[in-house]
Amino acid sequence: MRIADKFEKNKTVFSLEVFPPKKFEDDINVIYETLEQLTDINPDYISVTYSAGGSGNTDNCGKIASMIKGIHNVEAVAHLTCLTNSFADIDDAITKFKGYGVENILALRGDINPTVSAKKDFTYASDLVTYIRKNYPEMGVAGACYPEVHSEAESELQDILNLKKKVDAGTDFLISQLFFDNEIFYRFMEKVRIAGINVPVEAGIMPVTSARQILRMVDMCGASLPRKFSMMIQKYGNDPIAMRDAGIAYAVNQIVDLIANGVDGIHLYTMNNPYVATKIFESIRTLL
Ligand code: FAD
Repeated sequence: MRIADKFEKNKTVFSLEVFPPKKFEDDINVIYETLEQLTDINPDYISVTYSAGGSGNTDNCGKIASMIKGIHNVEAVAHLTCLTNSFADIDDAITKFKGYGVENILALRGDINPTVSAKKDFTYASDLVTYIRKNYPEMGVAGACYPEVHSEAESELQDILNLKKKVDAGTDFLISQLFFDNEIFYRFMEKVRIAGINVPVEAGIMPVTSARQILRMVDMCGASLPRKFSMMIQKYGNDPIAMRDAGIAYAVNQIVDLIANGVDGIHLYTMNNPYVATKIFESIRTLL
């Protein structure tokens, strides 16, 4: 099923994201248990990240997506990056995904990695969207978007115009980078709609459960930290249980506000932590 068909008026799509464990074969039981607990939530879909830069985990991404669909009966989205892949690599990856029963792809460029050379076939995610639309028209295609502007973009306006190109190439729906300040997301959505981007946009929510994790995340994606968020880290950062519970409460507050403001969907970055994802889901399930 194409995920795009799940977006309906008066319903908020609720999706989860997981990543393949580093030592896939060793941790197969761990990921199996994680998926079992996450699929109890019965999300609209679960997406599986893809490690860019030639670490060769397309197959692990596909295997996990296949477990999600085949064993747990939940729709799966496989992430796929294109910068370090050729047309033939992409054909190979998509053929494998299809063999695993995957019907939806999150089409990404991938980060520029100085240690892994880019190949020449794709420059932007929109090139991958065009390629999938032309060669695999049966696949659903999602794309990424950045409420706080992508780090390489010339300007906010240019980033939104580039996003429009990606959507016009055939992206069905968008998933946002994580953010901690909903006002930033609302301002972004106003500009997106003014630009004529009319596909559904899911808000990416990352529950912060440790002070160390947040510092790494902010470094990676540059999310702004509102004062109330920084105060929470300051007060509970050294107490792991209190930090976890405060992080869950913060994410729940963000989600309640987003749903009340009519967001199309919530995409929860689970960090493979079913306890946290389940606690959040239990608090908001009746609002969806
Ligand atoms: P693009 O849409 O290509 O944009 C990249 C930059 O190029 C932007 O600055 C944009 O403004 C600019 N641009 C786009 N089109 C044009 C154009 N036509 N002309 C000029 N400039 C243009 N990374 C992974 O490695 N694996 C994952 O599984 C993964 N999952 C992710 C999931 C989500 C929800 C998000 C938000 C990000 C994810 N990423 C992942 C990170 C992503 O690969 C990086 O953020 C990457 O730097 C940009 O990818 P993109 O697909 O958004 O690129």
